[in-house]
Amino acid sequence: MKKFLLPLILVPMIIGSGTLMAQSSLRPTIDTKAKAIESKVIEWRRDFHMHPELGNEETRTAKIVADHLRSLGMDVTENVAVTGVVGVLKGGKPGPMVALRADMDALPVTERNDLPFKSVNTATYNGQETGVMHACGHDTHVAILMGVAEVLAGMKNDLSGSVKFIFQPAEEGVDGDDIAGAELMVKEGVMKDVDAVFGLHIASQMEVGKIGYRSGPAMAAVDILNIKVNGRQAHGASPWSSVDPIVTSAQIVMGLQTILSRNVNITKDPAVVTIGAIHGGIRQNIIPEDVEMIGTIRTFGDEQQTLVHKRINEIATNIAKSAGATADVTIKKLYPSTVNNPELTAEMIPTLKAAAGEANVIYNDPVTGAEDFSFFQKEKPGLFINLGGMKKGGDPVTTPSHHTPGFFIDEGGFTLGVRVMSYFVVDYMGMKK
Ligand SMILES: [Zn+2]
Ligand SMILES: [Zn+2]
Repeated sequence: MKKFLLPLILVPMIIGSGTLMAQSSLRPTIDTKAKAIESKVIEWRRDFHMHPELGNEETRTAKIVADHLRSLGMDVTENVAVTGVVGVLKGGKPGPMVALRADMDALPVTERNDLPFKSVNTATYNGQETGVMHACGHDTHVAILMGVAEVLAGMKNDLSGSVKFIFQPAEEGVDGDDIAGAELMVKEGVMKDVDAVFGLHIASQMEVGKIGYRSGPAMAAVDILNIKVNGRQAHGASPWSSVDPIVTSAQIVMGLQTILSRNVNITKDPAVVTIGAIHGGIRQNIIPEDVEMIGTIRTFGDEQQTLVHKRINEIATNIAKSAGATADVTIKKLYPSTVNNPELTAEMIPTLKAAAGEANVIYNDPVTGAEDFSFFQKEKPGLFINLGGMKKGGDPVTTPSHHTPGFFIDEGGFTLGVRVMSYFVVDYMGMKK
C-alpha cells in the first residue's frame, strides 16, 4: 500500500495544477493589457460608428483594420470575400490555430440617437435614399477584435499556437443570389488551417458586464419558402367547374402549422413556419388559376431542418393533390443554424465565468434570428456568445432592439469583450497543447 501512496497523491496534483496553469497563467497579463487599451477601443468604435459601411462596401473599415494588424507585425490578407481582412499572429510556441471573428457591416437605417459620433453616412439601397447606421453593433465587434489583436500581439512569445483574426464583411447579407460574408470566406478557404473558432455579438438588451451563451443549436437557420398552387380558373358563381387554388392555399397554410404541433419535438428545440404573404386573384367573382405564397422557416440544427422541409413538401403537395391542384414548393436556404459545439462550449464555461464572474454568465434561450457565423461552425468547432451592451439598470423591454434607429450600445462592456476573446485563445491553447 505504502509504495503507491506517493504516486496516488502526486498524479492528480500534477494533472490538476498543469491544467489550471495552462488556463490561467496568462489571464492577469490580459486583464492589465485590456484595461490599458480600453480608451483606444472606444475611440476606434466611435470612428467606425460615425462612418458605417454597408455589406461588401466596408473598404474604409477594412483599411483601418488591415493597417492596425500590420502595425502589430501580422501577416495580413485583404479583399478576402470582397472586403474581408484576415490577419495571422504566430505565437512563440507550437500549438493550435485559434480563429476569432468580427463582422464589419452596417445597415440601411437612419440613426436617431443624438451622439457626438452619430452616423453621418447615407447610401442608395434598393433604389431608396437612406441613412446608414451600425444598428446591429458590428462597429463594437471590429473595435473589440482590434483590441484583442493588440493585447495578444503584445504577448505573442507566450502563446502556444497561432491566432487568426477574421474581419468579415456582409454578415447581414447582400441582395441577389451571390454568396457573401462568412459563406464566401469559408469557400475561399479561411477555415482550412483552423482548429476552433470563437465569436461574439453585442446585445443591446442585455446588461453590460453579462455574457450569454447556449450549448448546441443556439440560433435558427433561415430559409425562404415559396409555394405556388396551380388550379383551374372558373367563374366565382360556379366553383364546381374550378380547381380552387385559394381554398387549397388556405388548407395548406393551416396544414403547415401542424408541423410545429405534431412533428417537431417541442421539448427539444423550437421551430417557426410563417407565411408572410399570399397573392392570388383579381376580382370577387373570378376564381383564379394560381396562388403564390411566401414565408420564412426557422429551425434549430440540421436534423430538425431536414424534418421541417420534408413535412412542408409533403403537406403542401398532398393537400394540393387532394384538391386536384398542384403545389410547387421551393425552399431557399440562407443561413444554417448557429450550433455551438457542445464539447467546446463545456470546456469554455469556466473561461466565461473567469472573465465575467459566475453570476454574470447567463444561459440564453434559443434565438429565432440567424447569424452567418454558423458557416464557420459547420467547418470547425465554434462558440458564439452574447456580450452585454445595455446600460446597467436598463429595461430590456423598452430598450431599442437591434436594427432600429434608436439602437444604442453602452461602451462599458467592451473591455469584458476584449478579455473574454483573449481568454478563449489562451485557455484553448492551454488545453490543446
Ligand atoms: Zn443584425
Ligand atoms: Zn449582427
